[in-house]
Amino acid sequence: MTSEEILQLFKDSNALLTGHFKLTSGRHSDVYYEKFTLLKQPTICTKLCEQIAVSLANLGITTVVGPTTGGIILAYDVARYLGVESIYAEPGESGRIFKRGFSLAEGQKVAIVDDVLTTGRSIVEVIELVESYKADIVGIRLMLDRSGGGVQFKYPTESLTTVSASSWEERDCPLCAKGEEITQRGSRQFRKV
Ligand SMILES: [Zn+2]
Repeated sequence: MTSEEILQLFKDSNALLTGHFKLTSGRHSDVYYEKFTLLKQPTICTKLCEQIAVSLANLGITTVVGPTTGGIILAYDVARYLGVESIYAEPGESGRIFKRGFSLAEGQKVAIVDDVLTTGRSIVEVIELVESYKADIVGIRLMLDRSGGGVQFKYPTESLTTVSASSWEERDCPLCAKGEEITQRGSRQFRKV
């Protein structure tokens, strides 16, 4: 699948919406990614995970790591294609931690996967966690980069598709300035891109 075809898939499944949204980070945006609209559909999700797995083949990866919650699903399915282990990083008191007996060995080749890249914060937290075990981060893979390529990491990163979405602090939000109401999730105000 091409990047355009994948983007169309996000739109067709109503996973990408336009309006006036308040993101989890508190910032306001004109595009919203309703991740579980896509992640709840295994037959679609697995096609994307296969694409990610193909891009990670023959790199000697032995573990795929994802941050909760979407990253759990992706890491599991990508690892299934690669025939390796998958583990996930959960929020700790500061940054991310492994629970459930998960661990990494020094020098172990690891891929980090997540569904959407917005500010990159959760990926940075997973990078710090994996680095704390001195494991070797071979690649970072995202389903969707909604930063428009604006967020960079120090390890090779690829995204299946990219969309440019603007986001602002509430005080700088032009949609607020226009008096546009925040679009309520699940309401009919949601409209396709
Ligand atoms: Zn706003």
